[in-house]
Amino acid sequence: MAKLSTRSQPIPVETEHVPHDPDSPTAWMADGNCRLHPPATFFPSDGVGVDRARKICKDCPVLSTCLEFALDERIDHGVWGGCSERERRRILKRRRVEATV
Ligand code: SF4
Repeated sequence: MAKLSTRSQPIPVETEHVPHDPDSPTAWMADGNCRLHPPATFFPSDGVGVDRARKICKDCPVLSTCLEFALDERIDHGVWGGCSERERRRILKRRRVEATV
């Protein structure tokens, strides 16, 4: 498991190799850029932290999968798929509106 950092900047940390089931619906997580950063980076307490997490997500190879997972699971904490909680709420609201048109 990744170490939690109290630094203000995310730092790459050694992570233990955690065997995972490649057939698991969350197997994509093993390919996320966040695997190299402390989990706390993705649960920021302010806008600066959200921007920091977004920069890591920006070129993540599983960004869209991550975002759809968070939307499907109604995850309401943290940055997932490059989007904050607020942004995900907006996406869900927009999709609900579009579904009724
Ligand atoms: S999009 Fe961001 S939170 Fe999702 S797997 Fe990639 S780096 Fe992690």
